[in-house]
Formats: sequence, C-alpha cells, structure tokens
Amino acid sequence: MTDQINVALLCSGISKTFGNHRALIDVDLSVRKGEVLTILGPSGCGKTTLLRIIAGLELADAGQVFLNDEDITRYPASRRPINTVFQSYALFPHLDVFSNVAFGLQAKKTAKSKITQKVGDILSLVRMDGLEKRFPHQLSGGQKQRVALARALVNEPKLLLLDEPMSALDAHLRTKVQDELRALQKELGTTFVLVTHDQNEAKRLSNHLAVMNEGQIIQFGTTEKVFTKPDNKFVAEFLGATNLFEASRDGALYRTRYGPMDVTDKPVWDEGKILIWPERIEIHEKAKTGEPNWFSCYVRDRVFNGDGLDLLLVKDAGNDSLEKPILVKARNSFDIQSGQEVGVYFPPDYLVPLENRAQN
Ligand code: ATP
Repeated sequence: MTDQINVALLCSGISKTFGNHRALIDVDLSVRKGEVLTILGPSGCGKTTLLRIIAGLELADAGQVFLNDEDITRYPASRRPINTVFQSYALFPHLDVFSNVAFGLQAKKTAKSKITQKVGDILSLVRMDGLEKRFPHQLSGGQKQRVALARALVNEPKLLLLDEPMSALDAHLRTKVQDELRALQKELGTTFVLVTHDQNEAKRLSNHLAVMNEGQIIQFGTTEKVFTKPDNKFVAEFLGATNLFEASRDGALYRTRYGPMDVTDKPVWDEGKILIWPERIEIHEKAKTGEPNWFSCYVRDRVFNGDGLDLLLVKDAGNDSLEKPILVKARNSFDIQSGQEVGVYFPPDYLVPLENRAQN
C-alpha cells in the first residue's frame, strides 16, 4: 500500500503498433516519486514511443497511464502536468533566454511579477542568471541544454521526461551536465524519466533502470542490481559484459571450461551461462591446485587503460588459438607481462548466473 502511494507514474499493459511493426508490447512500468528512472535500450527498441505515450504526444493502442493515481490515458498533452526535454532542446530561436523560459507561464496567464521571480529563480538554479538576454544561437550546447531544462522545470511539472538530453554534448561536457542534472533533481525532488542508449549516463543518473529490447522491458530493477546482476545474455552484453561462459551442475559445484566452480548465488538451471565482471577477477602469481574457482592462464595481451591494466587471458598459450580471452581489469599488477602464466581466481560471490530464458 505504502508503495502504491509513493508511485508517481504507472504504465500498465501499454502496446503500440505502427503499420505491422509492434513498437511496444504489453509494457508495465512504475516510477516512485522523486526518483529517476532510466529507460535504456538499443536504437529502435521503443524508448521514445513509450516516452511520447507518457507525455500524451502519441496514443497507445492498449494500456493505461496513471500519474499520482489519476488515469491520464485519455488526457491531451496540454492537460498533463508533465514536461519533456527533447534531444534537440527545441528552444524558440527568436526568443531570448528569459522569454524561452517564461513562455509556458505567460501562456498560463501568470502574473508578470510572479513570472519574473520564477524565471529568475530557475535560471539561477541552472546557473544561467546574467544570460537572460542572450538568444539560443549565442549559447553553447551545455547552456542551451540548461535553458531547455529551466523551461521544463519552471512549470513545476509532476514528472519530467528527458529524451536523450545529452546527445548533442561532447563527452567531457556530458559528464559535467549529468552531475549538474543529478544535483538539480535531488534539490527539486521532481520525478524524472530519462531515455538513453548511453549506459554510463544511466549509471550516473538513475535509481532504477528498465532495459528494453524489441518493444519489451526485459529487465527492471535498481541501477546497481541491473548493472551487477543482469538477468540474461541480452542485458549482460548490452551493458558491456564479455566474460560469459557455459556451466553445468556437477553435484554442489558447476563444471566450466576453466574447471569446477563454486557459485554463491545458486543458478535455477542445470545448464546455463555464468558472467563475471572484469573488475572482480583476481590475479595471483600461481593458482591453488585442486581448489574450485582457481585455474592457470597465460597473458595474451596487456593494455594500459589509464588507471590500471586490461589483461586478456587465455588457457592455451599458443598465439593462434581461437579461444575467446577472459578480460581482467587489474589495478595493481603493472609488472605482469605478455606471455606470462598467472593464477586466476573467480570469487564465488561474484559469479552471476544468467536466467535460462530465450535471450540466453
Ligand atoms: P532511438 O534510440 O533510435 O531513438 P527508440 O528506442 O527511441 O530508438 P522509437 O523511436 O520508439 O525507438 O521507435 C520504435 C520503433 O517504432 C522503430 O522501429 C521505429 O521505426 C518505429 N516508429 C516510431 N515512430 C513511428 C511512426 N510514427 N511511424 C512508424 N513507425 C514508427
């Protein structure tokens, strides 16, 4: 019950077909008040369509949208207390910063003094005070983005939708703006739904994640849970996992190409796939013999990655081997050389069994 009270947005059974293409298939989604939910997925999976249905810019073929318990499915966009920041920012080119931000308030016939105060407050919150008279073409990408945010937030929406809001920014600025956006969201407590295909953006900004593929949500959970324990192969690989290997139950252990493994989080299957993140693998001088989770490997390659080494390890020493290497991110092992034999340990706590689903 408490949870229901805390829900800001609830989408239930949303489906949408364009011609004969099923863009959304029975999508359920909920976002708690004051949280940031990110919808992450490859191009064309239906993210923008879902956002447009929430905003009222597109009508679903089936399903309902609730905002704070109110059924808004049939409300036009203008009746929904929801604002959207688009990828392109969509600022009015002929209006200065002040007028761009004031536009919505003026349309609602807000008193002039109130407009001046509200616009001033929100511009200082996004650190754009002093630039009120500039026109969009006189602003940098980051500044345009902040004006677009101010314009959306000045109306105090119950929900802010952000459709790839950073995609026009370069990598360095993007990280900075992401941090600013996070701070702003925390200060205002507005519920955000963010659409992106950038997994780092999702990691930095969101409390919860919905990973989509082909019109369906295939994993939903806290950002930490989804990133550390993806349910299936699609999510794992989409999040950048490379160390996936086959395993089959053998008594209390699991047989793998690297030897027997003890797995803390017991798989629900007898045969399936296990994942380990490169940061979690331990490198030692020698493997403990006869112990599960320990084995020997050769270093096929070592690459300095800025704050440690990326090691590519193979069981077979030959250079022409077709074996898929194990990637290890080693922080304190700078003396390791290519060709060297090392002991490898896969800690049982960090072995992630993937669900035995179709996506496996
Ligand atoms: P991207 O990350 O590339 O923006 P997306 O996940 O946001 O992709 P959508 O824009 O939601 O994807 O599109 C989902 C699917 O629906 C795509 O195959 C797209 O071509 C199709 N689609 C979207 N809008 C329409 C439309 N108005 N008419 C026909 N097909 C559409």
